[in-house]
Amino acid sequence: MKKVPMFNPIVEMDGDEMTRVLWKMIKDELILPFVDLKTEYYDLGLPNRDATNDQVTVDAANAIKVHHVGVKCSTITANLQRMQEYSLKKMWRSPNATIRAALDGTVFRTPILLSKIKPVVGCWERPVTIARHAYGDVYKAVEYRVPGAGKAELVFTDENGNETYRRTVAEFDGPGVLQAMHNRNDSIESFARACFEYALDRKEDLWFSTKDTISKEYDQTFKLIFQRIYDEEYRDRFEKANIKYFYTLIDDAAAKVIRSKGGMIWACKNYDGDVMSDLVAAAAGSLPMMSSVLVSPDGNFEYEAAHGTITDHYYRYLKGEAVSSNPLAIIFSWSGALRKRGELDNNSALMAFADALEDAGIQTMEEGILSQDLAILCDPADVVEVPDNAGLLKAIRSRLEANLAAQVELLSA
Ligand code: NAP
Ligand code: MG
Repeated sequence: MKKVPMFNPIVEMDGDEMTRVLWKMIKDELILPFVDLKTEYYDLGLPNRDATNDQVTVDAANAIKVHHVGVKCSTITANLQRMQEYSLKKMWRSPNATIRAALDGTVFRTPILLSKIKPVVGCWERPVTIARHAYGDVYKAVEYRVPGAGKAELVFTDENGNETYRRTVAEFDGPGVLQAMHNRNDSIESFARACFEYALDRKEDLWFSTKDTISKEYDQTFKLIFQRIYDEEYRDRFEKANIKYFYTLIDDAAAKVIRSKGGMIWACKNYDGDVMSDLVAAAAGSLPMMSSVLVSPDGNFEYEAAHGTITDHYYRYLKGEAVSSNPLAIIFSWSGALRKRGELDNNSALMAFADALEDAGIQTMEEGILSQDLAILCDPADVVEVPDNAGLLKAIRSRLEANLAAQVELLSA
């Protein structure tokens, strides 16, 4: 069979531990035999980040701005224990944080659904995607414990040193707690544009929710910025694409999403998105089944699995034990990146390959050939086999070959 051609490269970012092992196995078994793969390769594994003083992460982020599509393997975020384990020069910043900041991106998380894994929420037919604003609010708040009676005030001094606002927050009779948080219009605007772009990309409705009835300045600002950008830049394109932008209060949105069929993108402020993405993951199935894409407002896309490097599986693998990890989110990161590359390059063969690859992964699991984490979530009667990683990828490959052969037949018919 002729390999699928690629016209432009994608930025490939390798990672750590079990996901690094799976990365190579997936490429060897499911991509390289079928695609004339063009990538610009960056090794974001912790040893190389340390050796390059983390320059490799910055270079990779810049490369995504050039090529517009990236695919990233999970990476270790350094902490004290990892510093010792890898004898690091420094506690390097999380690569995801570096890339997110460089691309000014918003993270969208979508669960991969299988009919064998019944969502806890029975009416969900299609995935619910959570878009989380990744800047500010309580994550950049200033806070402290108030020791005793006194007055707390919120003061703003402009750049010329003039005090423009002074508001009493609370008059304390005794000890308490105090917090001040902020956000920036430019960050909210980027968040809004990334959400509108992604909704158009997925052809799904965009929901946005805050608590603007209570937070009449703070949350109201989010609501107004979204509405202005929608009216000025996206209304026409949404109407043409036959999708909707819908604003509602966060509590109303929560109630409506639970009773919906799914299939929408739900944009959330930072804290809401933190909570809702884990809630949706648990409600839809399991964390290893979460796919993730970082979208920048100017149209760069970085695909990855939402899970980490599966450290415990890696240490069992190093001991020579047979390990069964779930490869679907990594496979979907590759299919997502290849499909996007195909779209940008008008390469329909590459888009068709991405579909065939995703279908092969889903089919294998639907036929009861499962990774361990899914086997325990299914009805035991549905489990046919729980192979090790190499075995599972071989099973997926045989279905991929059949799907590709069927595509060729369809084309020549
Ligand atoms: P994790 O790697 O996601 O693993 C947590 C647990 O979830 C695993 O022990 C495993 O459970 C299960 N799991 C996750 N992915 C799985 C898969 N594909 N197949 C089967 N089971 C899976 O999270 P972590 O242990 O908290 O973090 C490990 C490292 O990953 C850390 O160094 C962290 O910094 C990094 N991390 C990176 C990213 C990223 O790059 N995007 C994200 C999160 C964490 P069982 O043990 O029960 O099988
Ligand atoms: Mg969370």
